[in-house]
Amino acid sequence: MNAACYDIAVVGAGPAGAMAARLCVAAGRRVVLIERETLPRYKTCGGGVVPRAAELMGIDITPAIERTCRRIELYVPGLPPQTAQHGDDPLIHMTMRDTLDALLTQAAASAGAELRTACRVTGVTEHDDYITLSTGQGDIDARYVLAADGARSNIAKLAGWPETRQFAPAVEWEVHASEADMQRFSAAVRFDFDFIRSGYAWVFPKRHHLSIGLGRLRHTTADENLNAAAARYLQALGIDADTPMQRHGYVVPITPRTDAIARRRILLLGDAAGLADPVAAEGITHAILSAQHAAEAVTAHRDPASAYTQLIGQQLMPELRAAKILSRLLYEHRLLRTMVLRLQRRRAVEAMVDVFTGRRTFSDVLAHRSRFLRYLLSRAA
Ligand SMILES: Cc1cc2nc3c(=O)[nH]c(=O)nc-3n(C[C@H](O)[C@H](O)[C@H](O)COP(=O)(O)OP(=O)(O)OC[C@H]3O[C@@H](n4cnc5c(N)ncnc54)[C@H](O)[C@@H]3O)c2cc1C
Repeated sequence: MNAACYDIAVVGAGPAGAMAARLCVAAGRRVVLIERETLPRYKTCGGGVVPRAAELMGIDITPAIERTCRRIELYVPGLPPQTAQHGDDPLIHMTMRDTLDALLTQAAASAGAELRTACRVTGVTEHDDYITLSTGQGDIDARYVLAADGARSNIAKLAGWPETRQFAPAVEWEVHASEADMQRFSAAVRFDFDFIRSGYAWVFPKRHHLSIGLGRLRHTTADENLNAAAARYLQALGIDADTPMQRHGYVVPITPRTDAIARRRILLLGDAAGLADPVAAEGITHAILSAQHAAEAVTAHRDPASAYTQLIGQQLMPELRAAKILSRLLYEHRLLRTMVLRLQRRRAVEAMVDVFTGRRTFSDVLAHRSRFLRYLLSRAA
């Protein structure tokens, strides 16, 4: 074992990793936070941070907020456009992930985590009482590894995890819109359901540009090319195709690993575990929550892997199960969805907005469903 063995090595300086590193340091552990990129780095993401996630982060993220939206517009085929607002409450903060993640990472480093950037982990060797990570900057030993290395999680692969998550493909176009287009789209966050089959499209107004994207949340045989769909979406929004933009595509894991999210000395966090919600593919809230549970498990329990599995099982899995049912209703049973929205439009829109913004959990929505909705959901489950 290397003399400089860390208590905890956290791999990945996204929301999950940066948060976990800060909490482990706060609990008095010697922590190294390893990130393959130089920070700040672009991350393909809408950068929508719901108030619940912002609060859970436990630091002031104002410097990373480019705009706060207090209105949401929902477009669902067959229904008039819906607008949701809760007085003057913020419904969703617009950030760019390079700035947000750099801020969270800086907070971890200021708290005392040792930060290694431009340092890719390429190998994992498990010993009885510690782990060696091979990196471009040499070997790093740690008693426990928190793998927060995102959707493609190389750590899980290197440690022998089979792939059991399902992925939602998504694209994000950073569109440097004209002043007139910025004016048109900057007052609200906009969601368009069914713009692509089994998915939705969005417009997120940032400070000087629009993040426009779409994602497919359920598997479908009609695999429409997402970039072609995004081009069609821009056209539908009336945005000139020649507008300068950067096009990005990636995946969001929207089902948790079915075998294990922790084994021996390795715990998987956030996207590496598959914890984004399958309704909106919102992943930041659960990334932060998984970091909190991992930090607790690894600093306060004798058997961190079991403790973490139990905490996630109790705190997040019921949410994800409820979200899965709602996701089916939303994307697979469109007729049922339209019936619900037609008959209980106000309540349904409120519920949709509440879960999108984190004001209510998916379980809350299912717990307070009417008998009629319960019947429809039983058909969708
Ligand atoms: C198009 C799109 C739009 C989205 N929009 C939203 C949204 O608006 N709101 C929302 O809440 N969620 C959104 N998501 C989901 C969200 O981006 C993820 O769920 C979230 O980033 C997960 O955080 P994480 O910390 O687990 O992983 P990540 O944020 O992916 O961080 C992983 C980090 O690990 C690093 N890393 C990877 N491999 C290695 C390695 N071998 N060695 C060292 N470092 C490594 C990466 O560079 C990265 O910094 C979106 C996703 C996509 C694809």
